[in-house]
Amino acid sequence: MGSQEVSTVDWQGKHVTVAGLGVSGIPAARALRERGALVTVVNDGDDERARAQAAELEALGITVRLGDGATLPPSTELVVTAPGWQPDKPLFLAAAEAGVPVWGDVELAWRLRGDNGRKAAPWLAVTGTNGKTTTVRMLASILEAAGLRTAAVGNIGVSLLDAVLGEREYDVLAVELSSYQLHWAPSLRAHSAAVLNLAPDHLDWHGSMEAYAADKGRVYEGNTVACVYNVADPATEDLVREADVEGGCRAIGFTLGAPGPSQLGVVDGILVDRAFVANRQQQAQELAEVDDVSPPAPHNIANALAAAALARAFGVEPAAVRDGLRAFRPDAHRIEHIADIGEVAYVDDSKATNTHATEASLAAYDSIVWIAGGLAKGATFDELVTGAAKRLRGVVLMGADRALIHEALTRHAPEVPVVDLERTDTGAMSEAVARAAELARPGDTVLLAPACASMDMFTNYNKRGEAFAEAVRARADESA
Ligand code: ADP
Repeated sequence: MGSQEVSTVDWQGKHVTVAGLGVSGIPAARALRERGALVTVVNDGDDERARAQAAELEALGITVRLGDGATLPPSTELVVTAPGWQPDKPLFLAAAEAGVPVWGDVELAWRLRGDNGRKAAPWLAVTGTNGKTTTVRMLASILEAAGLRTAAVGNIGVSLLDAVLGEREYDVLAVELSSYQLHWAPSLRAHSAAVLNLAPDHLDWHGSMEAYAADKGRVYEGNTVACVYNVADPATEDLVREADVEGGCRAIGFTLGAPGPSQLGVVDGILVDRAFVANRQQQAQELAEVDDVSPPAPHNIANALAAAALARAFGVEPAAVRDGLRAFRPDAHRIEHIADIGEVAYVDDSKATNTHATEASLAAYDSIVWIAGGLAKGATFDELVTGAAKRLRGVVLMGADRALIHEALTRHAPEVPVVDLERTDTGAMSEAVARAAELARPGDTVLLAPACASMDMFTNYNKRGEAFAEAVRARADESA
């Protein structure tokens, strides 16, 4: 268990530069100052909010430099960065040149865990292009059902630093990690970890698909019990093969089909485990029913299997897997059923901000009026449209990059009716819902799964989903 030991750093008098005021930077600066470090926060912005935050930190003896996040303060011995800062920023180039290490918020939490005298809980980590939040919440629900003290943390609302330094003591943490966070977490060693899937995303930040995959793959480094991969996505298994793990750590696959030895999968509507059983050549253990997973869309069953694999790696009993999955409720805007109007279902999957997520969501329904569009972030839509063409009753497009989707539809699904809203204002959503309702027939699903980011029309994907739900509810009230 060498790599799972808590490492201690003597912070007294150490010059640390924190890059970025914000949700991770402020708690990091405070925690380091409390431990005696000489902290300088550097921040690109210099607005009113930043000044107010700076004043609070300065009162604690922290130096804050606003309006210049590029220059490395000369005495810096360590940089702690907000995960979103792009690796080619001048600050990091200067750090590399000076031989100064750079840690992200996750690395800092990993290093500080246990230094307040509390038990350093092991981490069960989840990454992937899509499904992280859902899987981590399912995992936490399962761990809770097993009577363990746990929390869903990381890139998910509760900061890791708060979790490792807070008052509560945990037996185990369910940790969501983004590719950015993994990039800056060189010494993280999870108990077990899962990469759910790998599809091109955030390539502008990472520089290439290879670099993106390599950062995701970091999650397996030093795992002690299980590296969980997706049988349907061989790139995830490749990452397991490349990882340097502790002796005895096993590769565990999950599949929507019947599982082989050392896999979890599905047989006759039952989620089964052929990995953590006494005789995996001959035996399979029933964990739960497909209907215990909500919503029971194929990609969500995959998420449940990944969560189950991590929980089983931690020694959780089968009954707790079932109870935890039953207790789980999906977060808003993730395949969220809003209403049925005239035998048409209205579903909000505003969180489907890339084509990989949208592909999964379109695969979950037989006959769909698809509402899509927004900021494409460099994506192409040919594959997505080709795969879904047969199930599309019609399409309603809006947003800045809608022409890209329209062109793909013209190429691959010319028979599918398309309504192009030609508008990007916030009010477009109620028109989109109205036009979708005209296209829909009884038994259809009107699905908001934009395959694009929302910022051209909305503050974020939450607001986009809320606008959809409001428009749907208004129609439901009218028709009641
Ligand atoms: P993340 O935290 O990785 O963004 P979420 O659980 O919030 O993941 O889901 C994001 C979107 O991805 C949802 O819109 C959902 O439809 C889709 N999704 C969820 N799980 C998967 C999966 N296993 N494969 C593909 N798409 C998925």
